[in-house]
Amino acid sequence: DFRFPHTFILLGASGDLAKKKIYPTIWYLYRDNLLPENTKFVGYARTKQTISEVREKSKKYMKVRAGEERKFEQFWEANEYLAGSYDKRIDYEMLNQQISKFEKGPVANRIFYLAVPPTVFEDVTVNIRNACIAIKGYTRVIIEKPFGRDDVSSEKLSNHLIGLFKEEQIYRIDHYLGKEMVQNLLTTRFANQIFNPSWNRENIASILISFKEPFGTEGRGGYFDDFGMIRDVMQNHLLQILSLVAMEKPVTLNPNDIRDEKVKVLRHIQPIAMEDILVGQYVGNPDGQGEDALGYLDDPTVPKDSITPTYALAGLWINNARWQGVPFILRSGKALNERKAEVRIQFKDVPGDIFDGKAKRNELVIRVQPGEALYLKMMGKSPGMKFDLVETELDLTYSTRYRETDVPDAYERLILDVFTGTQMHFVRNDELKEAWRIFTPILKQLEEQRVKPVPYVHGSRGPPEADAMLAKYNFKYSGSYKWQKPSPP
Ligand code: NAP
Ligand code: NAP
Repeated sequence: DFRFPHTFILLGASGDLAKKKIYPTIWYLYRDNLLPENTKFVGYARTKQTISEVREKSKKYMKVRAGEERKFEQFWEANEYLAGSYDKRIDYEMLNQQISKFEKGPVANRIFYLAVPPTVFEDVTVNIRNACIAIKGYTRVIIEKPFGRDDVSSEKLSNHLIGLFKEEQIYRIDHYLGKEMVQNLLTTRFANQIFNPSWNRENIASILISFKEPFGTEGRGGYFDDFGMIRDVMQNHLLQILSLVAMEKPVTLNPNDIRDEKVKVLRHIQPIAMEDILVGQYVGNPDGQGEDALGYLDDPTVPKDSITPTYALAGLWINNARWQGVPFILRSGKALNERKAEVRIQFKDVPGDIFDGKAKRNELVIRVQPGEALYLKMMGKSPGMKFDLVETELDLTYSTRYRETDVPDAYERLILDVFTGTQMHFVRNDELKEAWRIFTPILKQLEEQRVKPVPYVHGSRGPPEADAMLAKYNFKYSGSYKWQKPSPP
């Protein structure tokens, strides 16, 4: 109930995520009057500092437009900061007192956001449980990846959390679930009769889900080296997208009905086999300038003999009636030629061809970022006197179709969902368990057999071997499609 006091407590408030993402996000929500009117924010970390120092550090990440200055002042007036340890109960009792000061009336709710490293995660959650639980309202806890680094460590973390909180109190963030086009998957699939009956092995040849980043580690590879591209992006973000693309229709739109279907489809996937994975690592481009000239191993924070993948392509198989035999290709990499995240659903060739093999496959492209779009590549008659085939498209580009609407940031949406208690776009414990079941064996094999990643050039499309894998998985690329950007009216 939005009439009652709410407190948003940010643990690790001195950190990188806090200043770059969380403070800006809560400001935008506050600015747009989306939060309960009586919401207070409390930052907590070991660093001794004042709220004005917190404000100073996050300033350059927060957009304040003309006319919003007063609101911005009010936002910071609703903020406090308290320094304390992560492992001493007494400090959390102080925190509890601080929060309690605001909590007038019969009901008061608390949301804890854990922007702290995984090493202190257990201490922090135990102390919240022991000293900071809301006594007259809800307590919700938002946590960030990494949720472990394999099945065993993830299960340990889960068991720890189960001992402290109920599943409906835990909000595991996978910020891809907050993205507009990811949320649109459900609607595209289940609100359109045109897609619904063709979404299966009879009609679809292969599905490619890609994440590409145009920069490398830029001298900060230390943390990344411990995780690698598979853990960083594939096991979580790309697999989440896969489950939304592949799941059966949920019974209702209730969050648990949706998550039940996501888990169910994951359970049909076998752990990834060695023959279904390709790992790569970028090397410097000899003709490149600056960062482009540098390879992963040139990063001084990365061990010289590191075999950590900065690129991976994996083929996954869903052994159910809808998908048996259809390759789901997950692909993610750093230091590539472009930034993008997209889903490509490639349909089969038309049987009984009457066009001398000239018809190209239909492809439904769902571009998650940058520039949300959904387009269906299709064949048409070339306009004019001739009776030729031409590759064309049905195109839904958000920036032109929805000119007046700003697509909200993933974090804004997700944090607001926590206030309203909507868990639809958060990862449930059993989904996480399935994700690690699928990925842990291959991660172990790659590490134990010290599989050397294939090199690819910084700024390229990735290892050349990857295109051969795509072809093997029945993903066809012709290079003949030409897109004409419509000129603005
Ligand atoms: P961070 O800046 O390294 O750490 C956050 C705060 O935790 C620091 O300001 C520090 O505060 C405290 N801290 C750091 N190292 C510690 C240690 N060894 N022992 C105890 N306290 C320590 O981390 P972050 O980048 O903000 O990320 C926070 C969490 O979000 C992590 O779990 C991370 O994996 C996850 N995450 C981050 C991003 C991102 O973009 N940064 C993205 C996705 C997920 P005090 O010293 O003041 O206590
Ligand atoms: P395309 O040119 O047929 O390319 C499809 C994909 O194949 C590429 O994105 C590329 O992705 C991959 N590729 C490139 N060279 C390859 C090779 N040698 N072997 C195997 N795969 C290869 O079609 P498109 O990318 O869908 O569209 C072309 C351009 O038009 C894009 O820039 C697209 O954004 C734009 N477009 C925009 C809209 C819109 O904004 N609404 C609509 C339609 C098209 P990887 O490098 O990731 O492998």
